[in-house]
Amino acid sequence: MFTKELISKFETTPTPFYYYDLSLLRRTLDTLFKAASKYGYKIHYAVKANANPEILKTICEYGFGADCVSGNEVLKAIECGFSPSKVVFAGVGKSDKEINDALAHDIFCFNCESIQEIQVINQLASQSGKIARIALRLNPGIDAHTNKCINTGLEDSKFGINFNYLEDVVKEVMVLKNINLVGIHFHIGSQILDLEPYRLLCQRSNEMQQKLQLLGLNLPEINLGGGLGVDYYNPDQNPIPDFENLLDTIHQNLDVREGQKVHFEFGRAVVAQCGTMIARTLYTKPASKTTFAIVDAGFNDLIRPALYGSYHKIENITSTSNETETYDVVGPICESTDVFAQGYKLPVTQRGDLIAFRSAGAYGEIMASRYNLRDLAKAYFFE
Ligand SMILES: *Cc1c(COP(=O)(O)O)cnc(C)c1O
Repeated sequence: MFTKELISKFETTPTPFYYYDLSLLRRTLDTLFKAASKYGYKIHYAVKANANPEILKTICEYGFGADCVSGNEVLKAIECGFSPSKVVFAGVGKSDKEINDALAHDIFCFNCESIQEIQVINQLASQSGKIARIALRLNPGIDAHTNKCINTGLEDSKFGINFNYLEDVVKEVMVLKNINLVGIHFHIGSQILDLEPYRLLCQRSNEMQQKLQLLGLNLPEINLGGGLGVDYYNPDQNPIPDFENLLDTIHQNLDVREGQKVHFEFGRAVVAQCGTMIARTLYTKPASKTTFAIVDAGFNDLIRPALYGSYHKIENITSTSNETETYDVVGPICESTDVFAQGYKLPVTQRGDLIAFRSAGAYGEIMASRYNLRDLAKAYFFE
């Protein structure tokens, strides 16, 4: 919901652009902070959802850590104020340079996804005289019942170490001199709205803990990853995800040993709702079965619909018409997949009308490209 005043600022801003509501971001962070403090849970923000420096700095103010999936994310998080002692680094394909950069900053933990990777980290750590803290990213074999493109915890997903190999991996890791195994890590997918996968995840974590116990290990860190979803259909009714409900559920289902710390890595749930992409209608044109509304943003600016078939709520925020019409809302890019929505009901739309793509704060601006040599959309933080 945008005020008249805000829309008048949008009117004079070159489109397309991203608008971020920092006050909603702060309210979201307050809610998360409160829910996590109740149980002493450690929160890391998943930088890949949105690495805009203004947003990183705001999140950093809450004392949260950063969850990174590339060396550049590690460096960016530290540059924006995150303490290296709260940075975790995951990813199936960490390069030697990325590992060395993270070692140089003495990050909190590498979340490791294969035995070979751990051996390489051991070798590089030994060369620089460091001990690397690592957690094993285990693949729990859980179906998070989300979009197949972002379902990461299935047994044959490329992510993580199959949990059936836990004992073998632990035995191999224990002999490595420059590795300190501190925990286990999971991340089962994204845009998860049902809490059942999280209950299963707690069960799996409890089972893993028992297996580790049998090996004589009591690891201090458990990291349950991120994945909490947001309401893309009703961003105004549900602007802040129910962190409390999720964390209460975890508290009820997860076995936590004396002194153990529980970590989470939320990306989408923190930033999705505070971001909107604003575009301008360039043209409308009738076709035999539909009418096209051609806007000046394309999938290079917001790729989620083209990449995952994702839904974003679309609003014509300047139309004065009381009548609606059904549109295919499309971008200018020379690809047939440059479509934001088909058969979408909007007020009668005309050239010049501003179109808002809601809930675009996560995996929006950060996934932008310069395809067709288009300019990158800028970010604005109007109060
Ligand atoms: C992407 C990712 C996250 C964040 O996922 P969201 O669905 O945005 O909360 C957390 N942890 C890891 C390892 C990731 O790759």
